[in-house]
Amino acid sequence: MTTSPTTVIVGGVAGGMSTATRLRRNDEHRDIIVLEASGHVSFANCGLPYHVGGVIPERSDLLLQTPQSLKERFNIDVRINTRAVSIDREAQTVTTQSGEVIHYDELVLSPGAAPFLPPIAGIEQALTLRTVEDVDAIVAAVEGMASAVIIGGGFIGLEMAENLRHRGMRTTLVEAGPQIMGPLDTEMAQIVATRMADNGVDIHTNAEATAITEHGVTLADGQVLAADVVIAAIGVRPATDLAKAAGLEISGTGGITVDRQQRTSDPRIFALGDAAAKKDIHTGEDALVPLAQTANRHGRLVADVIAGRDTTAKPVLGTAIVGLFGLAAASTGWNERRARKEGYNVRIIHLHPASHAGYYPGASQLHMKLVVDADTDAILGAQIVGDNGVDKRIDIIATAMRAGLTATDLADLELAYAPQFGSAKDPINFAGFINDNLVRGERTVQWHELDARMTAGATLVDVRTAAEFSNGAIPGAINIPLDELRERHTELAGADDLIVHCQVGLRGHNAARLLTNLGYTVANLDGGYVTWTHGKQAK
Ligand code: FAD
Repeated sequence: MTTSPTTVIVGGVAGGMSTATRLRRNDEHRDIIVLEASGHVSFANCGLPYHVGGVIPERSDLLLQTPQSLKERFNIDVRINTRAVSIDREAQTVTTQSGEVIHYDELVLSPGAAPFLPPIAGIEQALTLRTVEDVDAIVAAVEGMASAVIIGGGFIGLEMAENLRHRGMRTTLVEAGPQIMGPLDTEMAQIVATRMADNGVDIHTNAEATAITEHGVTLADGQVLAADVVIAAIGVRPATDLAKAAGLEISGTGGITVDRQQRTSDPRIFALGDAAAKKDIHTGEDALVPLAQTANRHGRLVADVIAGRDTTAKPVLGTAIVGLFGLAAASTGWNERRARKEGYNVRIIHLHPASHAGYYPGASQLHMKLVVDADTDAILGAQIVGDNGVDKRIDIIATAMRAGLTATDLADLELAYAPQFGSAKDPINFAGFINDNLVRGERTVQWHELDARMTAGATLVDVRTAAEFSNGAIPGAINIPLDELRERHTELAGADDLIVHCQVGLRGHNAARLLTNLGYTVANLDGGYVTWTHGKQAK
């Protein structure tokens, strides 16, 4: 009698459970064993912060499956509270912490990532968030408490800050870097910081926590931030202990090295999710992208490969979105910082269109940034922040990038339109129009380039109305409203370096076209006064 092959999966949440259930759909006869160190499988990690804030009041709503339900529906042998402690690759066995030795034909590692805890005095007093047990500990710790300090301004730290504010706690967020939300460029992150501050989160950037005591957090400059509870959300590190001890290759990123079929350096062992290195969309080099949708998609892929299908993983863009006090902040691909660091000749586009037709109730302003390779017109990345319509636009750009569309191609994408959903020229089309204009030789100046240009003698013309100008203007700008420019342009005769700007860039574009057609050489301030203000606020 032949025995069924056995697949053992380490980690029973995003990547592990996606692998397990797809594998069962692929193969009814295989033994599938899932080892999960915590007390729960298939729980909603991404929902954990919202239970702390009471947005998801029922803890049970976080628990999507149980070992019993997975046994009944999929005949998967799920063992909770079971940690895999070693792998014997020669014997093809995994040993659990209770000493049980389990044979595998294929082993799948999806153990996730562990919260990073830097060597700060008292760090053991800080709470972290990864599992249902962690969320239970945080809920118990914050009960009846008045104040919290969160260390780390990444998306988990920010989500925790929002949820602690929902509980009415005094909430301080400490970030060692110059800005919160690292995936965004500074002027885009500033919009998020402002929304957080408006909702009572006290943000300290360039603030390094050096000690945690029962009274709160001490910063490098000696300041003490009082807190009843301290939460560390300083980032995550791939959980690679098992893989390392088994001698599997680890990439320079710290993740487990895998090929395009998620195979590790041992062809019988696969790795995926936060523990595994991914391939960057632009460089093809190893990258860490600890996101749920990547883990889920790769789980499906691993199951297919095990079942004999010849399929490969695509490089990743790292498309992500976070919701904070009604604001959505999303990004895909590279930001400007990264693109410049990689030595690209970048073209940057900021725009601030309405989320849908302005005349239809409920429209709000989107803040969009496109990072383009000026040599090839390839889209390198995008960032979008706003109250409505952010998710749809970032997903369109991510899809365009995956499909290899150029930035100019965005101009002619045919997108669904009715006034409550978009505009006849969608913000995505607008990004393409602006790019097309730049490809054809129109000029822009970035917010961070303006000071140097002004110092060197540039003439800056604010083409907004006199009322807008008097409400706040860029130092050194002269005001010639767009509707008067045709008559007054001779006032600009002889200007060496002419820059125009308006509120968001559109009237500035009209002014630039008018002046260009009259024979001037002129540049438009990209993103207008709004982008300039965000950038200046961030400094
Ligand atoms: P996990 O889903 O973390 O599963 C790993 C499991 O392996 C864990 O349960 C762990 O207990 C278990 N394990 C570890 N070692 C062993 C061992 N030796 N033996 C047995 N079991 C072991 N991503 C998004 O895309 N969007 C979001 O909104 C989002 N929000 C998040 C919010 C929070 C609070 C957190 C913590 C993460 C969030 N993520 C989000 C990230 C997302 O949850 C992860 O990228 C994803 O879960 C990774 O899947 P994984 O299978 O690699 O690891």
